[in-house]
Amino acid sequence: MRLLVVSDIHANLEALDACLDAAPAYDQVYNLGDIVGYGANPNEVTARARELGSVFVRGNHDKACSGLTNLEDFNPIAGLAALWTREQLTPDHLEFLRELPQGPLEPMENVHHVHGSPRDEDEYVLMASDAYAMLAHASAPLTFFGHTHVQRCFLLESDSSTGKSLVPAYRSAKGSQDIKLELKPNTKYMINPGSIGQPRDHDPRAAFLLYDTEESAITFYRVPYDIQRAQRKIISAGLPERLAIRLEEGH
Ligand code: ZN
Repeated sequence: MRLLVVSDIHANLEALDACLDAAPAYDQVYNLGDIVGYGANPNEVTARARELGSVFVRGNHDKACSGLTNLEDFNPIAGLAALWTREQLTPDHLEFLRELPQGPLEPMENVHHVHGSPRDEDEYVLMASDAYAMLAHASAPLTFFGHTHVQRCFLLESDSSTGKSLVPAYRSAKGSQDIKLELKPNTKYMINPGSIGQPRDHDPRAAFLLYDTEESAITFYRVPYDIQRAQRKIISAGLPERLAIRLEEGH
């Protein structure tokens, strides 16, 4: 089975289209949440995600934009974008987003699927020490997570008390690139595919991954897309300018 693992698309249609064009053959799509919020195409992206997806968990922006949660925890820019998104979404897409399941899910034996972390759907796992503590208690060898918008792999070998953090080392930040990682036995992994619609690891290219269960391997991808077009749409929608600027900064 070949699983396309996508996260944090954030209503960025240009980035999503570029990723789908660049993606290798796959059997199923796992979506780790934050389909909407920030970007200018919430309806188009939700429609595309629904066509593609078979396994979903909800993200904090999916909850806020569909009115499930209020905006207390959002900074003013994210809050404005969530309110704008709520007004744009069709009733059908609003209902779909409101009904997305809460993680963690186990869509396949030994594979967990969360937006934030296994213990809290809204937690940011940025610190390696947090990831290692969770890996020590993880019941599945493989957990896919999103939320941080940072493409990364944390791992803990069974005979070791210290974990490792791997950041895909691309040759440059230009063009489409991919990096393959063979998964080792007796090792637990937490892997973030990165964000399609708003990367925050200083690489503005859209990010996702492919998990090949037979090969027991992950391939990380970075794909360039028409950032200027996505930016123009954000500005002409009246969304905060910062949301356009950060796309080219990749942060
Ligand atoms: Zn997000």
